[in-house]
Amino acid sequence: NVKRDPKVQVARLKLPVLGEEQRIMELVNENQFLIVAGETGSGKTTQIPQFLYEAGYAEKKMVAVTEPRRVATVAMSARVAHELALTNKEVSYLMRFEGNTTKDTKIKFMTDGVLLKEIQSDFLLSKYSVVIIDEAHERSVYTDILLGLLSRIVPLRCKRGSPLRLIIMSATLRVEDFTENTRLFKQPPPVIKIESRQFPVTVHFNKNTYKDYLKEAFRKTVKIHTRLPEGGILIFVTGQQEVRYLLRKLKSCFPYRKDVDYSKLITKNTKGVEVDTALDSEPDDINSDDDEVEKEMKRARKARRKAKKKVKALPKINLDDYDMPEDDGQADLVGNDDDSEGHLSDSDAEEDSLMPEIKSCRQPLWVLPLYSMLNSNKQARVFEPPPVGARLCVVSTDVAETSLTIPAIKYVVDTGKKKMKVHDHVTGASAWRVVWTSQASAGQRAGRAGRVCAGHVYRLYSSAVYQHDCPPQHAPDLCRRPVDDLVLMMKCMGIDKVVNFPFPTAPDRLQLRLAEKRLETLGILERHDSKNASRNCQEEILKVTPLGKAVSAFPLLPRYGKMLALSHQQALLPYTIALVAALTVPEVMSGKADNWPATGHTLLLGDPGVLLRAVGAAEYAHRKGEEQLFCAKYGLREKAIKEIRKIRKQLASEINLSVAGVDVSVDPEMKPPDEKQARLLRQLVLSGLGDQVGRKIGLDEVKEGEDKRKFKYAYHCGDLEEPVHLHSASVLRKTIPEWVVYQQLYETGAEERRKMVMSNVT
Ligand code: ADP
Ligand code: MG
Repeated sequence: NVKRDPKVQVARLKLPVLGEEQRIMELVNENQFLIVAGETGSGKTTQIPQFLYEAGYAEKKMVAVTEPRRVATVAMSARVAHELALTNKEVSYLMRFEGNTTKDTKIKFMTDGVLLKEIQSDFLLSKYSVVIIDEAHERSVYTDILLGLLSRIVPLRCKRGSPLRLIIMSATLRVEDFTENTRLFKQPPPVIKIESRQFPVTVHFNKNTYKDYLKEAFRKTVKIHTRLPEGGILIFVTGQQEVRYLLRKLKSCFPYRKDVDYSKLITKNTKGVEVDTALDSEPDDINSDDDEVEKEMKRARKARRKAKKKVKALPKINLDDYDMPEDDGQADLVGNDDDSEGHLSDSDAEEDSLMPEIKSCRQPLWVLPLYSMLNSNKQARVFEPPPVGARLCVVSTDVAETSLTIPAIKYVVDTGKKKMKVHDHVTGASAWRVVWTSQASAGQRAGRAGRVCAGHVYRLYSSAVYQHDCPPQHAPDLCRRPVDDLVLMMKCMGIDKVVNFPFPTAPDRLQLRLAEKRLETLGILERHDSKNASRNCQEEILKVTPLGKAVSAFPLLPRYGKMLALSHQQALLPYTIALVAALTVPEVMSGKADNWPATGHTLLLGDPGVLLRAVGAAEYAHRKGEEQLFCAKYGLREKAIKEIRKIRKQLASEINLSVAGVDVSVDPEMKPPDEKQARLLRQLVLSGLGDQVGRKIGLDEVKEGEDKRKFKYAYHCGDLEEPVHLHSASVLRKTIPEWVVYQQLYETGAEERRKMVMSNVT
């Protein structure tokens, strides 16, 4: 007895997945496993949980839906609650450090990591009747492990007479990794393919591939907006910083003003009445391979010329009254010694050629940002129609590729780039790199343009790049990242031989072994002899130590869990909690070390000490209601500070629950640690990062002919041959200690300026 809003009902009926409800439910009822493959926007995420709800699957137990992205977890739970006319008590979400689940929850959206944690305490997932693994094509690490575990859990539950169903949902039809892997599923599960009516999308490649893809994205967007008929624009870039850059530029070119009645403009526009001189001139700056743009333009030009004779007065514009979509006030991040974003600097020469068109265009562009760190009510704006007369333009990271479907997009501008975390398997160093998307992603992005009518995708790179530089697919995450936390988690679940686990795609064995070695060094795993019954011989396996068990209780990488686990004594917990929280949130501070003059404890603790101090001070400012100001003044990322606050609370309550006799609270006015505490904290930092040590390279060690000045801040680290430099913002540049431990190694700079840098150094 669901009472849906009639509007919702109308929108639902348009979704292709609705026509398959009966078939899907039959397959769910009769099978343990089901794979649903369907184009993005076909209604998988929002509708299938509703089918299950209506079929009674949420009556006695819950329906779980996992998402690899936090954005989707919040947005989709809200949407499903709305469609079912239920509250967020019944359709809820849960992700690390945040959620609104209650005892009345029926449908629970969660990040895949959260469900994995739940398996640790309840291996049979006895609270659930169905688990939906959404976005399985993304092949996120946790999703892959969940699939491996669920391939065993589901049959176990069925054997025990309390069946559990698994639905795997994918936006790509390529599901062989799931169906043809006999270690995962002995018998391939049934696959249901949802045919969606996708309108044709014309693909336009650029003739040239410009290095500055942002400028090119800007130019293309300007052309679309000034020359082509109505229809939303979706631009894909690589990160938040780029989103905000384009957002600013586009908004300033085509501002939306409150006092203007754009409805007049839009009628004129659609009738083709507006004067648009640029369209009368030859479009020499459009690439000749933009055939479709040409054609569309000609059509539009013709219509407009016809109508030109009856031009009306344009609306009066008051330059002082702006009402643009509100900015979320987030300071842009300053990358860690990373100048890869140097291309963000404005260069006006290029724009000048477009200036006449920009100036003569009166239609505003309703530009909205979309990226995963954006807060959820701001994310929700992309689902609302733009104000009358304005054209919607969403500047997004790959979040809009398959996780969220933005309505009414007709033009996609694809830079062809995405940010990918690249790990060095030997050193453990990692860096965010801008890389070419896969051909599969390019296809997904293009598809966003054809949901409401025939659309266009403008790929800002050549077809040769597409063929030679874009791989058909990127390797799954699990095969590209360090797996320490996974190894520990799996060991705690009693999976001793992680190498034998039924991964959809198995990670590199070397990676698994390196993680085991790191965990052994940290005292989290230890060697045991065990009898291998099948081969009838002794063999060594690594098992979890008591310390390791304590460590695994924390939703953190093992090294940080270890710091917490060891800090019960000496009243250190409040400091360690704050410190670990700060260390696990990326990019808290922008590079200005001088903001934080060194004090006794910061010199003892190094950069983590500065971090601790910054967090303490920000907390104090927060108490006085001056957080925003404070963050801006001292170059702190406000969102990071908020996240740290959440993590501190969460860690404190977790510790209070799990450790008898301990009662820590988050003290906003935490005093700086005294000398003795700082010394102990330093030891804790070493205990967690003890496998990441550097020794200063003496100037006498510098080879003949090398520039000694380049070695001022250089260290030997582990097995690395090349020197590693203290981060430019490190307070330890003041003292250059003989020995250091560091949190992270980065590779920065391009080509000849490439160097290794360590950050958060103690
Ligand atoms: P899939 O999971 O197959 O990609 P979804 O279920 O996410 O598809 O989306 C189905 C439709 O629901 C899309 O047209 C999308 O635009 C719409 N939709 C999703 N969330 C919202 C929302 N918050 N407001 C309005 N429409 C939404
Ligand atoms: Mg979906």
